[in-house]
Amino acid sequence: MFSGNEGEMPVSPGSKPDISREKSAELYEKAKTYFPGGVNSPVRAFKSVYGTPLFIQKGDGCFVWDADGNQFIDFCASWGPLILGHNPPKVREKVIETMQNGMSFGAPTALENELAELIIKNNKFVEKIRFTSSGTEAVMSAIRLARGYTKRDKILKFEGCYHGHSDSLLVKAGSGLVTFGETSSLGVPKSFAEETIVIPLNDIEAIKQAFTQFKDQLAAVIIEGIPANNGLLMQEKSYVEFLQQICNENGTLLIFDEVITGFRIGFEGAAGYYGIKPDIVTYGKILGGGLPVGMYGASAEIMGHISPDGGVYQAGTLSGNPVAMAAGIAQLTELLRSGFYKELNNKAAEFAESIQRFATTRNYKFKVFYVGSIFWFAFTDKESIRCAEDIDPASMEKFKIMHRELLNRGIYLGPSGYEVGFVSAAHTKIELEKAKRAILEALDIVFRNK
Ligand SMILES: *Cc1c(COP(=O)(O)O)cnc(C)c1O
Repeated sequence: MFSGNEGEMPVSPGSKPDISREKSAELYEKAKTYFPGGVNSPVRAFKSVYGTPLFIQKGDGCFVWDADGNQFIDFCASWGPLILGHNPPKVREKVIETMQNGMSFGAPTALENELAELIIKNNKFVEKIRFTSSGTEAVMSAIRLARGYTKRDKILKFEGCYHGHSDSLLVKAGSGLVTFGETSSLGVPKSFAEETIVIPLNDIEAIKQAFTQFKDQLAAVIIEGIPANNGLLMQEKSYVEFLQQICNENGTLLIFDEVITGFRIGFEGAAGYYGIKPDIVTYGKILGGGLPVGMYGASAEIMGHISPDGGVYQAGTLSGNPVAMAAGIAQLTELLRSGFYKELNNKAAEFAESIQRFATTRNYKFKVFYVGSIFWFAFTDKESIRCAEDIDPASMEKFKIMHRELLNRGIYLGPSGYEVGFVSAAHTKIELEKAKRAILEALDIVFRNK
């Protein structure tokens, strides 16, 4: 039963009855007494879709099972890390083998070298790295490094890019083209937010204006390699090249936050996709094979500013944790197999395009934007969406209906229309075909309801 606080959804012809969710609902009630909103990360609370969160009991391959025993084909993939699917034997075995020797030492292990070597040997954009325990930490540290390196304080970010929840980055645009950030969370000091300049994506004039205004003050420009946390906002290569050029000319570092795109768009992430070398790059998600790992990397020269070599302090009790390193090693080793990305990306493209063809035939205002194995369902008739402003908030009502119809057909998408989905190596053509059929049915229902 949906015990949602979201009100009842109008019954639509063709809608499937709701799946049984008693156990999940019970667990959620209990969780609400322990955690704010019943969750340990806000989007999980299902506030943007119908019903209450499913409590997941098990994952295997492209499937997850909830506490009520419902099975779903999963496209959330733990928000990106699970590029091989759930619980892949190679990763699991390596983790278990490593754990036989203990779980943490707070001292160096050979496993850190091994994971670093896998990355550095196969990625021309980093010479030295530092492991952290989350993407947020990686980005926060990259910003500190840029500030320490340039001896400047301000950073430039883009509306529609997410970089984790550190103070400097929980800011949104004010009104105007180039603005001091306004805090997007209580608890972020106004003075911090003012060190962050916010401009829209896909707008070269805004970049020029920001550099005219803040020229010698900008330590870094930070952008998601391919913005994928607020819809999928593909940027043109010429735009990203311009960004790199203006950064170079002004002694400002370009940071690619590749926590979501790293090892996803290809082994070298968005930097490899565009053929653009950022000054600092951050990774997370896939890097840890489902365990908590992040990292930032740059040239040896820039990384030389990190403590203990340099004066920029950054540390972590569990940084480089052996079990997490083991998971990363096992997962990245699989990704380096020849043909891995080609096969995965082809499969994802076929999936996305077949859904698009259907929607186009039916004249639905619906687009599947995709790159590599990332896709985003957008209820729009625009040919492209390149900035946050181009997303119509009202279209999220349609996503809500789709989300519910898909859950009832055994398909799990992240519970927000602003989130992207992921195809993993574990999604076989059979399951993608099944998922596609469910998606087409859901689309018919959504558009019959308008
Ligand atoms: C997920 C994400 C982060 C934050 O990583 P966490 O591990 O959740 O702290 C930062 N930047 C981008 C681009 C992300 O996708």
